[in-house]
Amino acid sequence: MPKKIHTDLIGMHLSINGGLDQAISRAEELNCSAVQFFSKSNRQWQAKPLSEEEIEKFKLAVANSPTIQSTIIHASYLINIGSPDQPSAQKATIALQDELIRAQQLDVDHIVFHPGSHKEGPLDNCLDQIASNINLIFKNVKASKTKLLIETMAGQGTNVGYTFEQLSHIYNKIDQKNRIGFCLDTCHIFAAGYDISSVDAYKTVISKFDTILGLQNLHVIHLNDSKKELGSRVDRHEHIGKGRLGLEAFRYIMNDQQLKHITKILETPVESLDDNLRNLTTIRELIDD
Ligand SMILES: [Zn+2]
Ligand SMILES: [Zn+2]
Repeated sequence: MPKKIHTDLIGMHLSINGGLDQAISRAEELNCSAVQFFSKSNRQWQAKPLSEEEIEKFKLAVANSPTIQSTIIHASYLINIGSPDQPSAQKATIALQDELIRAQQLDVDHIVFHPGSHKEGPLDNCLDQIASNINLIFKNVKASKTKLLIETMAGQGTNVGYTFEQLSHIYNKIDQKNRIGFCLDTCHIFAAGYDISSVDAYKTVISKFDTILGLQNLHVIHLNDSKKELGSRVDRHEHIGKGRLGLEAFRYIMNDQQLKHITKILETPVESLDDNLRNLTTIRELIDD
């Protein structure tokens, strides 16, 4: 079946209940051109290796999909490769490496992960350690098309990666820079203090991102409104247009030609059956013809 060419790559985080290929079916039902999913239960450290059959079924579903053009795995939230506790950091590094291997086996485009938390340790050491553990993973796992993307964080608790400078600190220490990139979460950056709710503020933030991290390194945008106010450092996603960010912020993003080619994923709350479709429709309607 020939793929329907969508000019905008828009999708959602969807469930793999019933098998990995089911995330693709769910995305197609919502007419998504992109999809994000967990490659295993999000609260589990270990998962049994993917079987040949699972891998083939998934790859076939993507290849035959009339809509899907971009695939993303979100790594487990448990992973903290920056932990000051070395046994924990080691366990997390093995887990992230395993996530990368699974992503490569499934031939997905991107794997998004949260950089980590410094806990009782110094923040800069945490950033250094995140970079050195990524370097270790890249040394252990051969390169493929799958890129590892560091997500911008809200800065809740001792989470790091809530300023562009912190992310740049990590990036600068990565050996194989062609294998790494960023995922910008609108709710997270807003909670971290980057205002994108008015057009001038939006332009300033995007140009700051470009200067510090490079827009060419931005591969995924998470589209989430925020329940909490600017600079709250609290990560609570809200339906598009119903939060503190407001609809206009999403209109700027959806019509920013610099971001046109970047895959956009919604991780909005699912409280009732039609929430996903409603949030997607809201986003799609913001795009000017
Ligand atoms: Zn995330
Ligand atoms: Zn979040």
